[in-house]
Amino acid sequence: MSGNRTFTMIKPDAVENNYIGGILKMINEAGFRIKAMKFTRLTKEAAGAFYAVHKERPFYGELVEYMSGGPIVAAILEKDNAVEDFRKLIGATNPEEAEEGTIRKIYAKSIAANAVHGSDSDENAEIEGSFFFSQLERF
Ligand code: GDP
Repeated sequence: MSGNRTFTMIKPDAVENNYIGGILKMINEAGFRIKAMKFTRLTKEAAGAFYAVHKERPFYGELVEYMSGGPIVAAILEKDNAVEDFRKLIGATNPEEAEEGTIRKIYAKSIAANAVHGSDSDENAEIEGSFFFSQLERF
């Protein structure tokens, strides 16, 4: 059975470009409720830990630099079938391949600076949400 929560980040490029409002509007209009949210900035160490699964990928160093290069918005979202529906809403990793009307198609500039993160499984949604929020911060 699929779960009803996912985790997202509005990434540094989208925060820098003043897209927080536009992206949150799309998220709410797609039927997601915000269950926890914070505006924060990752240290290099924290970004490295968050993306540890990508350690062996050639772009890992670039990814860590980019994700720690400016503030982000982290949030836990709720909706039926949250993980899959949110991945559909954000679109493909590479914005050039993302479908029309998806968040990445509208707001992302490149495969590296692609505006938003969305968990890829219920298990990772729980792990990633716990990385940023204690039980007391979830509603
Ligand atoms: P996602 O699940 O769609 O976010 O994609 P992945 O899990 O494959 O990659 C994680 C993140 O790494 C992406 O969202 C991008 O920010 C970054 N990334 C992926 N591919 C590349 C790449 O080829 N170059 C760089 N610089 N970053 C990448």
